[in-house]
Amino acid sequence: MKTNYHTHSNYCDGKASPREMVEFAVAHGFSHLGFSGHAPLPYENSFSIKNNQYTDYCDTVRALKEEFAGRIAISLGLEIDYIPGLHEDFKPLIERGGLDYTIGSVHLIPNPDSIEYLRDHPAEAADYLWMIDGSRYQTYDEGLQRHYHGDIRRGVRDFFYQNNAMIESQRPTIIGHFDKIVMHNRDRYFQYDEPWFRNLLYETVELIKEVGSICEVNTRGIYKGRHYDYYPAKSTIKHMNGLGIPVMVSTDAHAPEDLIKTEGAEDFLREINYKEIITQL
Ligand SMILES: [Zn+2]
Ligand SMILES: [Zn+2]
Repeated sequence: MKTNYHTHSNYCDGKASPREMVEFAVAHGFSHLGFSGHAPLPYENSFSIKNNQYTDYCDTVRALKEEFAGRIAISLGLEIDYIPGLHEDFKPLIERGGLDYTIGSVHLIPNPDSIEYLRDHPAEAADYLWMIDGSRYQTYDEGLQRHYHGDIRRGVRDFFYQNNAMIESQRPTIIGHFDKIVMHNRDRYFQYDEPWFRNLLYETVELIKEVGSICEVNTRGIYKGRHYDYYPAKSTIKHMNGLGIPVMVSTDAHAPEDLIKTEGAEDFLREINYKEIITQL
C-alpha cells in the first residue's frame, strides 16, 4: 500500500498544485495522500503558506478529498514550525483549518537571548532565526556565526530543546525530521557518534516515546543529494525500534515525482524487523 503524509504544494514552497500531486498519486496507485503545507508564520518569508491563503489551502484540499473519494483517501494537515517566542501554539491553526493531523518540525532556531524580543517584534523574525534547512549550507554556516558566534554545541542543544518543548507541549501527530540539524553540518563541526550529540538525540527520542507521537522516516535528504542518511539516521531508527516507537516513511514531497522517492526506507525497516510501521492515519 503506497501512502505519503508529508506533501507540499505550490501553496507553500512546493512546485505543483495540490491537484497535480493527487493526480500523480492516483496514477501511481497510492491509497492515501496527506497534505502538509508549511504552516503560516507571523512574519514574511518565502516558504510558508501566506496567512491570507490558509483558508483557501484548506478548502482546496477538502474539495479534492470529496472529488477523489473512492479513488484515494486524502487528508488535510500542516507541517507546523514550533518557534519559541514566535509560534508556539498549534491549536489556532488546527481549529481554524479543521485539520486531520499535524507534523511538528523545527527549521528555525532563535537564540534564547532573542526570544523575548521576538515575542514583541514578530515582523523582524527573519533577522533573529538560525535557518538550519534550505538548499545552501552557507546559510547554515552564516546563521551559526551570527546567532551563536560559531558555538555549534549551543546551537545543536537549542535545536533539540526546541524539539523537546514542541513534542511535550504540542504533541504533534507526527514528529518531522528531528535530527535534520546534521544535514548542513556535513560532518564538519561534529560527528553523529559523539556522546554529547547522542545524549541530546536520545533524550528527544525518549520524549517521543513518552507522548506517543509517530516519528517519520524522511527520505528527502537522500534524493536531494544533501545527506547520506534518512532523518532520523538509520542508527537512531534502530534505537527507536528497541523502544517500540511507531514510524512512518515519508518523502517530504515538493513535486509530484518526489512522492515515490522512498529511497529503500521500507526495505530497510523490514530488514531490521522494525515492529511498529504505520502506513495510514
Ligand atoms: Zn520540514
Ligand atoms: Zn516538509
